[in-house]
Amino acid sequence: MPTVVDEEKCIGCGSCVDVCPADPKVYEIADGKSKIVNPDSCIDCGACVDACPVQAITMK
Ligand code: SF4
Ligand code: SF4
Repeated sequence: MPTVVDEEKCIGCGSCVDVCPADPKVYEIADGKSKIVNPDSCIDCGACVDACPVQAITMK
């Protein structure tokens, strides 16, 4: 799993889901937070890290 989401910081905006080019998408919004549901599809592009407005995502 190449990315980590800090759920304390996440505001559930969905930007990480929108920008993720992976298929299936790595994230899904559930209960107002971004959850990593498909870690193996991540291609390490970093788009989600750049897109997050609250810097909740870091690359492992
Ligand atoms: S690094 Fe790229 S492929 Fe991986 S979760 Fe983020 S946007 Fe998706
Ligand atoms: S972009 Fe950041 S704040 Fe928005 S849902 Fe994803 S992790 Fe949460």
